[in-house]
Amino acid sequence: MRTMFPKLLICDEPASMLDVSLKANILNILREMADERDIGIIYISHDLASLTQIANRLAVMYLGRVVEIGATDEVVGSPRHPYAASLLSASPKTDPSTDRQRMLLPGEPPNPIELPDGCNFAPRCPKATERCRQEDPARSAFKDGGHEAPCHFPVEDVETELLAEYAREGEHVEVQQVEDESFEETAEEA
Ligand code: SF4
Repeated sequence: MRTMFPKLLICDEPASMLDVSLKANILNILREMADERDIGIIYISHDLASLTQIANRLAVMYLGRVVEIGATDEVVGSPRHPYAASLLSASPKTDPSTDRQRMLLPGEPPNPIELPDGCNFAPRCPKATERCRQEDPARSAFKDGGHEAPCHFPVEDVETELLAEYAREGEHVEVQQVEDESFEETAEEA
């Protein structure tokens, strides 16, 4: 008798309620299974640590739309969409000795059935211009190999440029030092 394996596995928060060691075991099993059986995995999570452990490519979504996609190292190391940059800034630090600032987004996401004209993120984006409010950016408005983001004015340098942009809009954007708040909580708020 021949055992059949799926070609694609969709895992939606499969380890979110598990403790750290059990979570690591589950992720290792999934990785090994994927490598040995040549199975593709779509892993959906708010937990950036799990995602970086298991994913070769990472997609960040806002209002049901992919706002950044690329190799995991590139997206995490150099996010180009302001939403992705803000979200990633709120993830727990992998190196506790480093300082990092967290960008909190102003406002709430718009009603998904009454989306604004232009870029959906414009009402909350400190880089938004009139062009953003009128013209919805193409999915690959920013493109560098397999790294793409639908943004007219992609972030060039998160540490200086975007933080400066947020600071300039400081009356409605809070910038904080990151402590130990979870990525999940912030992602759910966003
Ligand atoms: S297109 Fe404009 S509003 Fe949308 S994310 Fe980029 S800079 Fe911000």
